[in-house]
Amino acid sequence: MMKALDKRGYILGLIVISIIMLAGAIYAVQIPRKQEIEGKWVSHTREVLAALDTLSKHMTEAETGERGYVLTGDASFLAPYLDAITFIDADVARIETLITDNPVQQARAPSLREDVKNKLDHLREVVDLRQHDGFDAAAKSIATGRGRDLMSSIHRKIEEMRHEEEALLNIRVEKWSSAAALTRMVVLSIGGMVYLLACIIYFNLYQEAKRRQQLAEAEARANAIQRAEAERLANIVTIQREIAAHNMDLAAAMNIISRETQKLTHASGAIVEMLDGDDIVYRAGSGAAAAHVGVRIKAQGSLSGLCMRENHVLRCVDSETDDRVDREACRRVGLRSMVVVPLRHHGKSVGVLKVLSPHTNAFADEAVATLELMAGVLSASISDAITADAIRGANQQLTIANESLVLQKMELESANKLLEGLATTDGLTGLKNHRTFQEQLALEFQRATRHKKPFSLIILDVDYFKKYNDTFGHPAGDAVLKKIGAMLATAARSTDCVARYGGEEFALLLPETDADGAMVIAERVRAAIASAEWEQREITVSVGVSSFAGQKDASELLNAADKALYVSKTNGRNRVSAAARDGIAA
Ligand code: GH3
Ligand code: MG
Ligand code: MG
Repeated sequence: MMKALDKRGYILGLIVISIIMLAGAIYAVQIPRKQEIEGKWVSHTREVLAALDTLSKHMTEAETGERGYVLTGDASFLAPYLDAITFIDADVARIETLITDNPVQQARAPSLREDVKNKLDHLREVVDLRQHDGFDAAAKSIATGRGRDLMSSIHRKIEEMRHEEEALLNIRVEKWSSAAALTRMVVLSIGGMVYLLACIIYFNLYQEAKRRQQLAEAEARANAIQRAEAERLANIVTIQREIAAHNMDLAAAMNIISRETQKLTHASGAIVEMLDGDDIVYRAGSGAAAAHVGVRIKAQGSLSGLCMRENHVLRCVDSETDDRVDREACRRVGLRSMVVVPLRHHGKSVGVLKVLSPHTNAFADEAVATLELMAGVLSASISDAITADAIRGANQQLTIANESLVLQKMELESANKLLEGLATTDGLTGLKNHRTFQEQLALEFQRATRHKKPFSLIILDVDYFKKYNDTFGHPAGDAVLKKIGAMLATAARSTDCVARYGGEEFALLLPETDADGAMVIAERVRAAIASAEWEQREITVSVGVSSFAGQKDASELLNAADKALYVSKTNGRNRVSAAARDGIAA
């Protein structure tokens, strides 16, 4: 609206100035013509004046000649008179011609002509009188004063006409000078207008040039801002990608974010602060803040704490006037302005990203936007780390549970083994117990029956052992039983089964062994025991051997061995007897 009005006013002004200048120009064009007319007028007036002067001169000359002649009678004096009167008629005629355009002068002309004619008649009359009647007659005629009156009238009329012409000339001059003044004014006005117009045009051109320059500058500024903005975003994306691509741990991500944030916001320092209970811990920092990493402060009373509670960006433009900050702390580290942005996990503040500067109001809106984007990148890393931590924690617990399960299983197995051992072995000697021996015997009997394989059985009984116990005590007896057990275990092969059969009785199961083989082993054992070193007195055993030979069941074989043992006892002990095929010991 305002602009349109300006434009209309401008055009109106231009039109007015143009009209004035056009009028001035038209006027100026007419000046020379007017000058020419005026010039003609002036020269014409001067011509009239000159003609009047000529007439006056010629009239005076004519009278002078007439008086000279009257006085002297010398005819030579008549020459100027005669000369003058020849011009006078022409002089009057010329005056009449020159004044035809002036009615006032024209009105005077006939009277002048009349006076001139009468004067000339009078002069001729006086001259005639001098010629014909002499000096006295002429003098008498002059004395009448008629001639003088006529001459006076002529001079008066010439003077009147002259006066008239001079008055005209004066008017012309006056008019001329006022016209000149007007011309000067017009010329000056036009000059002024031209100057004004030139000024307006110059001013407008200047304004236009200035506007264009400002426009170009603004465009350049906008372009620069756009470029910087694009570069800033590209930087942030690169950082984000780098963190994601290298699967960075949280500490490394915090370091990169604080370093790059400081660079991008042109801060003197940047810092990552994390909430830890009621405290805030400085976890990563760069620039001026690098030295404070590890510092722990109270969340309450700090701008960072407030930022986390309110969960949005806080800007401190000047720490000297901002009551939310710890002014003394700011002075100590030399900072005047800062911005804090919350770091969030599931929308909740868990820390802040902060930038600082020793100058007031150091962070523009772009810097705050950058800070928020960087905080977003770091928040993602924090959430990832928290999730990874939770998964790691769960995995760890699972591993621990598994390990304890394995341990429990092993314990169970060993307990089972122990139980099994306890169930199958004899506590004193560590040999198989009676029950296990019976099972083994049954198995071996089946196998031998099925595969028609030989196998033998040896039974040993300690001689006169009751007496030994009675004489040396039960523990000493136990020691003997233990030693015999160890000797039997040593003598037996890995496939053999050695067992404590009863109190002081032992049994050996010998797979793949026929009667002869069994006899050799039985004899070797007996001899070894009999010749071994014993604490109190010598120890001997009586031995019975039986071998598989198609018996009906295991007990039959057992009985045969028992019988053979009995034979050894009755035959004097410390000997080996084999069960006969028919059951009688050999
Ligand atoms: P023999 O066999 O030569 O006919 O005479 P013996 O004295 O050995 O016969 P008996 O069967 O009458 O005695 C067996 C003795 O073995 C009785 C018991 O005191 C002893 N005895 C049995 N078991 C153990 C044991 O575990 N430890 C000890 N120290 N002695 C035992
Ligand atoms: Mg016995
Ligand atoms: Mg005995």
